[in-house]
Amino acid sequence: MSEASVLNASGSRIAAEYALDLCARVAAFTDVPGTITRLFLSPATRQVHALLSAEMRALGMRVRVDAVGNVRGLYAGAEPDAPVLLMGSHIDTVPDAGAYDGVLGVAVGLALVRSLAGRRMCFAIEIIAFSEEEGIRFRRPFLGSRGLLGELTADDCSLRDGDGVRFAQTVREFGLNPDELSGDLLTPKTFAFLEVHIEQGPVLESVSKPLGVVSSIVGQTRFALTFRGQANHAGTTPMPMRKDALAAAAKWIGFVEETAQNTPGLVATVGNVRVTPGAANVIAGSAEVTLDVRHASDEARWAAVKILLRGAESIAEARGIRVAIVETSEQNAVEMDAVLREGLMRAAGNAGEAVQGMTSGAGHDAMIVARQMPAAMLFVRSPGGISHHASESVLAGDVEAALKVMTALLAELQFESFGRGNTWA
Ligand SMILES: [Zn+2]
Repeated sequence: MSEASVLNASGSRIAAEYALDLCARVAAFTDVPGTITRLFLSPATRQVHALLSAEMRALGMRVRVDAVGNVRGLYAGAEPDAPVLLMGSHIDTVPDAGAYDGVLGVAVGLALVRSLAGRRMCFAIEIIAFSEEEGIRFRRPFLGSRGLLGELTADDCSLRDGDGVRFAQTVREFGLNPDELSGDLLTPKTFAFLEVHIEQGPVLESVSKPLGVVSSIVGQTRFALTFRGQANHAGTTPMPMRKDALAAAAKWIGFVEETAQNTPGLVATVGNVRVTPGAANVIAGSAEVTLDVRHASDEARWAAVKILLRGAESIAEARGIRVAIVETSEQNAVEMDAVLREGLMRAAGNAGEAVQGMTSGAGHDAMIVARQMPAAMLFVRSPGGISHHASESVLAGDVEAALKVMTALLAELQFESFGRGNTWA
């Protein structure tokens, strides 16, 4: 096992250079020239599959693409039936994305395997490049990781993209078998999942640390609210006689911001407003607004949601207008595995790297995979806190730090510490 910790200073720099070079090569494949845009099983994705498959084979890995389009490379352990450590992240992107969201986790995984230089561990390492995380093409996120776990439903398979093409048809046209989508695609004996990912926020930069160990991924609730007043003439309707839906919504949006500012750990966002009829000389008859509420504690989130919705009702009531409230999504907070988290903290100590314990405000594949096995995440600082944007970046030294910590973790990881049923007992 100690052989795995051979990543010395120059070794980790070379490994980081490899990972960053791989990110750059992946970024060259795009569906929209001049940007980085890769949607689920698009032509650019096929090119990325070819690149990653070739890299994996060159590293001595067994390669396959599973039914949902996840690229999988298996680096065998010392024994033929060794348990499997799963590592990776996603390779789809938002439109006009950066080069590191998702891809960095795959590249760091392959850099780790590369640094083993043929040495074998007491467990096998499977690197997974999830096909779909962002939810852009079919407006539903995490199809790759949910597919891995055998969680895809008939409803998922009948989703249609913007051109009306069904999900299952997309899978078939890519050359994969949609009949296998409902099965559990996990490699037997997989005992844990590790995801390295850019932070996509400003926290690590603000504490001047390169890395973060994620304690939990926040839960989130989304609502659509419609304030309904009375559209009327902007010139002839006296102020006391108006039922202005937009003015009510605006007052409530201020209340949402104020409530979140005064509630530790809460973030609440109204990101979209649609006003009808939407003319300069007409009082708004209706205002449809979205609400997104997140907190690491589900109880705190639910309590805040109650306050925010009651606020909408009382603002509407005071103005003699109505408000309709529809919940559009609800996702509980997901705790990362305590043993793996402690392992990452200890590994960081052993590697001499500073890490920050933190929650993740964004959803990630790890929160899906955590339903079936111990899972943990290592965040890499995002300069300027910028992500989902062409200027997204990472610092080479931070990637190097991540590789050192992951190497130290691999060196001490014992699969006996993890329970996933009796799959390998
Ligand atoms: Zn991501």
